[in-house]
Amino acid sequence: MVKHRGGCHCGRVRFEVTAPASLAVSDCNCSICSRSGYLHLMVPKSRFKLVSGDEFLTTYQFNTGTARHLFCSVCGVKSFYVPRSHPDGYSVNVRCLDEGTVAELTVTLTNGKEWESVYPQGHGEPLDV
Ligand SMILES: [Zn+2]
Repeated sequence: MVKHRGGCHCGRVRFEVTAPASLAVSDCNCSICSRSGYLHLMVPKSRFKLVSGDEFLTTYQFNTGTARHLFCSVCGVKSFYVPRSHPDGYSVNVRCLDEGTVAELTVTLTNGKEWESVYPQGHGEPLDV
């Protein structure tokens, strides 16, 4: 496990996330992820720390309202959010991590366009703490 750091474009929102150096991430084709090119790293809340910028975060919600899409109100970048599949954790946008700590990326496609068939139980698998 290493500590990755990242944040939004303007630098107001900054976070730390503890995860392996080699990351397993997902590329989702749902209506919002496909438009933003978001690459997901799902982590439990215990492995995520918002360092700064809480006051600049704006929440966007749609459909079931379970996911809380958090973006920087200054630069518009969504560097992390509360995902519908894991509302008890966070999804970090691996594209927003600082350079230097990621050794390798393994990308898996997630068919979020057909969310209900991918997650018939209404949520994803429990996250490793
Ligand atoms: Zn920003």
